[in-house]
Amino acid sequence: MSDKPRVFVSRVIPDVGLDRLREHCDVEVWPKPTPPRRDTLLDKVRGCHGLVTMLSDKIDESVLNTAGDGLKVVANYAVGYNNIDVAACRERGVAVGNTPDVLTDATADVAALLMLAAARCVTPAAASVRDGGWKTWAPMDHLGVELVGKTVGVIGLGRIGRAFAERCRGGWGMNVLYTANSPKPDADRDLGARRVELDELLAESDFVSLHCPLTEATAHLIDAPALARMKPTAVLVNTARGEVIDQEALHAALKENVIFAAGLDVTTPEPLPTDSPLLGLSNCVVLPHIGSATRHARGGMAIMAADNVLAGLAGHPLPHPVG
Ligand code: NAP
Repeated sequence: MSDKPRVFVSRVIPDVGLDRLREHCDVEVWPKPTPPRRDTLLDKVRGCHGLVTMLSDKIDESVLNTAGDGLKVVANYAVGYNNIDVAACRERGVAVGNTPDVLTDATADVAALLMLAAARCVTPAAASVRDGGWKTWAPMDHLGVELVGKTVGVIGLGRIGRAFAERCRGGWGMNVLYTANSPKPDADRDLGARRVELDELLAESDFVSLHCPLTEATAHLIDAPALARMKPTAVLVNTARGEVIDQEALHAALKENVIFAAGLDVTTPEPLPTDSPLLGLSNCVVLPHIGSATRHARGGMAIMAADNVLAGLAGHPLPHPVG
């Protein structure tokens, strides 16, 4: 057995990160296209010094206990880290890292893509081409809503929220409203953005896009009363986490035209079952959590995760710590 530190990587990630880890560590990579089951994950982390985890891996007390005292670092291959019990890691002196910034543009692009796709009825329009519904140029079919000069409400004006707001401001001359924990004077100055209460944002916005982390405060932030506050012409976009929306309430709101449409990159659960009622709606676009899915972003994330692991194993501060 090698005397190198042992690292478990719970999915195949780009070689640019794995190669970096393999130079210094004994690396085991979970090779399958689906995540390890819980019992397998527990088995794999036993005796590990470092972990590279995905948002589908719940890293809690039992994982930490099973890994044992040798565990020094958990490097999440994501910017969101709601899958990790950070407090439990801290108690044990296990460092936790994530992969911010490198995926900001890719994710903001997907939010813009979903906003356009939902606004312009892409789901039923594209389906009609395939299923023979496209009989002729039709003056009254697939009528969407326009973006220019409208108001966008960004819930969580952090890295991705700001990048999305820049696209909305620069591309379509939108007015930007936002919520965040703290004021963002740079965005106020550069984008003419205005921080408002959530209720005002919901009532005033033509497009509402979610960019906050999933926390106790944001779980089901968008519930039935919140949806009822939105304009009947409004489009809701979620590239944050599925649980930020009460999905049953969203289904009802879309079905009853309480809002115009929604575009979702994240759902509850993931993957969304193919018989989910959301998928039966023509005014809902759903993507399989592809916000960061560009070669550039995923490669960068692999390097950052590897650097986090190597720093943690060496007892150094992580280059990309959470919190
Ligand atoms: P970030 O820079 O930390 O931004 C999060 C923003 O949310 C911050 O501005 C924060 O305010 C704000 N916020 C926190 N709690 C809030 C609340 N209760 N109400 C309103 N705003 C709140 O994070 P990021 O890098 O932009 O990433 C945001 C999230 O996107 C991640 O947590 C992750 O879940 C998701 N994500 C998804 C994908 C995907 O593939 N779909 C990819 C990357 C990230 P303050 O700045 O004032 O603290």
